[in-house]
Amino acid sequence: MIYLDHAATTPMRHEARQAMLPFLDPTFGNPSGLYAAGREAQGAVDEARMRVAAALNARPSEVLFTSGGTESINAAIIGIALAMRRAGAGSHLITTSIEHHAGLHAAQYLEGLGFEVTFLGCDASGRVSTEEFARALRPDTVLASVMLANNEVGTVQPIQSLAAVTHDFAAAHGHRVMLHTDAVQAPGWLDIDVCALGVDALSLSSHKFGGAKGSGVLYLRRATPFLPLLHGGGQEMQKRAGTENVAGIVATGIALEAAALGIGARARAVRGLRDRLRDGILAAIPGSTTNGCQVDCLPNNLNIAFRGLESDLLVAALDRQGIAVSSGSACSNSTWEPSHVLIAMGVPIRQAAGSLRFSLAESTTAAEIDEVLRVLPGEVARLRTAEASAV
Ligand code: PLP
Repeated sequence: MIYLDHAATTPMRHEARQAMLPFLDPTFGNPSGLYAAGREAQGAVDEARMRVAAALNARPSEVLFTSGGTESINAAIIGIALAMRRAGAGSHLITTSIEHHAGLHAAQYLEGLGFEVTFLGCDASGRVSTEEFARALRPDTVLASVMLANNEVGTVQPIQSLAAVTHDFAAAHGHRVMLHTDAVQAPGWLDIDVCALGVDALSLSSHKFGGAKGSGVLYLRRATPFLPLLHGGGQEMQKRAGTENVAGIVATGIALEAAALGIGARARAVRGLRDRLRDGILAAIPGSTTNGCQVDCLPNNLNIAFRGLESDLLVAALDRQGIAVSSGSACSNSTWEPSHVLIAMGVPIRQAAGSLRFSLAESTTAAEIDEVLRVLPGEVARLRTAEASAV
């Protein structure tokens, strides 16, 4: 199989898998246990917390382990917004219409609880405007949540500028506005330094950077108002109840540490392959166009529209040739709606319906890219002929 859907999930890193195995068996203790097996498990969780904190330039006490990106994002958005409202700070939120559904639906849930939400749009490259963001800030704004990198088109948002604007506004109005970013697609491709970014909360999902599924990270800056989503035991500094997924947490620490190393060289190599794929497709397939920007974007992402095609048919045709790619975001594959991200970028609905996402990894080879370039033009032509004769 040629796997070009690493934005959906990517294989575990060997070192992360090796590190987690002993915590499935024989070191199976519950970290809350006061005996040796419990202490050993707790020690492994503490060590992973230190690794994650170091990778993010955070304090260990600011790192919470969760069940994945979706939980982290929900906890950040809902937990901070409710805590701020309870403190009397207001009930207005800012987010964007190109967030992952985890963020969009959490914001919509808060609308149902009486919050007012401003959904910012983006330009044709998928970028949110700092000026528009600044205009949306209000004295009753309690939280802004903007993703660091988009999962469908790879556009990187100007989070540092948004943070600067937020802090200036907060200082001018003597009132705090929290800033959360969904950084799920960033590890391995972008430096994630929470201090440099200037965010109060940041979410990660381990299986996107070589950890295990069912594990995630929520960074919460010290003193960020927060009401926990989960109630029960006192785990994770009273902020996330439930017995820890020790093996997943161990893998998270190792994988994030590895992903944070050598970003420049990895990004250069993968960008070269991505550009080769893009240029090859555009040259060989008439009626193909890129969606999104090619400048401030993740180096491993390529989103291309094929005129007159249904992307799901092309995904199936490539699958039969042993090539795995995605039509839109994997998480919305069970529904038949056009990508909300492409629509927000102003991509016409027919073009959005014929769009594929190719997402590469460090393990992707030039031979794999050349094989895709060999197979794809024929499959597109075949499907176009079939579609034309069906009309
Ligand atoms: N945010 C982004 C940008 C994503 O790409 C994804 C997954 O595709 C998520 C959040 C949700 O992560 P998970 O499905 O691991 O909970």
